Amino acid sequence: MAYVPKMLVIGRCTRCGKKLYRGDEMYECPKCGVPYCPTCYKKVYGRCPICQSPLEEH
Ligand SMILES: [Zn+2]
Ligand SMILES: [Zn+2]
Repeated sequence: MAYVPKMLVIGRCTRCGKKLYRGDEMYECPKCGVPYCPTCYKKVYGRCPICQSPLEEH
């Protein structure tokens, strides 16, 4: 059996609080520097709900 390393949590989605792991699809606001999950990225139409800047994919 292969050893499965513990996934590294890099943060939580600013909007829904979902845990974001390294290697996962995630988005970040370049102005606020806060992360968003792909679900929230769609729900806010790619714009930061705090400052309305377009989110960048990471
Ligand atoms: Zn979210
Ligand atoms: Zn922002």
